[in-house]
Amino acid sequence: MGAAFLASRLAAARPAASSLAARPLRVLRTVSGRVEEISVEAYVAAVLPGEIGRRAPAAALEAQAVAARSYALARRTRHADEGADLCDAVHCQVFLGLSSATAETRAAAAATVGVVLVQKGRIIPAPFHAVCGGRTARPRDVWDDEENPDLFPVEDDACSGAPGFAWSFSLPRKELPRLAQALGLPEARFVEVYGRDDTGRVSMLRLVAHGGASRVVRGFDFRKAASEIWGWASVRSTAFEMSESRTEYFLAGRGTGHGAGLCQAGAIERARRGETRDAILGLYYRGALVSTVDSAS
Ligand SMILES: [Zn+2]
Ligand SMILES: [Zn+2]
Repeated sequence: MGAAFLASRLAAARPAASSLAARPLRVLRTVSGRVEEISVEAYVAAVLPGEIGRRAPAAALEAQAVAARSYALARRTRHADEGADLCDAVHCQVFLGLSSATAETRAAAAATVGVVLVQKGRIIPAPFHAVCGGRTARPRDVWDDEENPDLFPVEDDACSGAPGFAWSFSLPRKELPRLAQALGLPEARFVEVYGRDDTGRVSMLRLVAHGGASRVVRGFDFRKAASEIWGWASVRSTAFEMSESRTEYFLAGRGTGHGAGLCQAGAIERARRGETRDAILGLYYRGALVSTVDSAS
């Protein structure tokens, strides 16, 4: 990919919502119930280890810093009912306290102060995930939520060596009722793939009960329910083929996570190969622009 191509794609958009970005984030600590005020940049440095790990190369840490900052600023109304902007859990971004920041993550925040991803003049809640499995997903195919940015799926070979690039899981038929109950059906006789999005991910599945009652569920919700029952390493993504035998459903899949936006394993490998932060952002956030807001308070 040529530098000129990237430069045009990453041409600075107009500054967005600067005054709001400078206000400290109010973070709801879910264990204590307290709300802590934390500057945006200190928050970004502290969430990076939990989201991508402190050992990632600088360009990958910086790309993740831009994503984490964008996500936090775009989602800061999420906990308004509780007098906060964001919570400290997976629901928003994992924040374990300011002491989680390291020299490397502080450097990544400092190297990207105020840098955010925007679309149509607004900061986007930039999605990211562990391993895309070869192709990223379109956010609107993952979430039933109009607030999500319109990003274009891209091919990605950089994560092919990562753990979780390829996976399989056997779902015993006798466990199907448990899954059905988690998805709002009292029981189920069988499950089938009912739809795929244009990147090939399973967008819908259908559960059918004895007597014919059925329910169509989103791929995202199926994976979430399976993860809650069998752990995150069961149905690692919705990019899977499903076959069945008398006793089980066999899922063979690619990637780990929802697949939208930044592929962390791919970003780490690209940074190791010498790609820049902007090249990484330009690939995984195709459709968005890089802009700068005043986030230093
Ligand atoms: Zn939250
Ligand atoms: Zn990838």
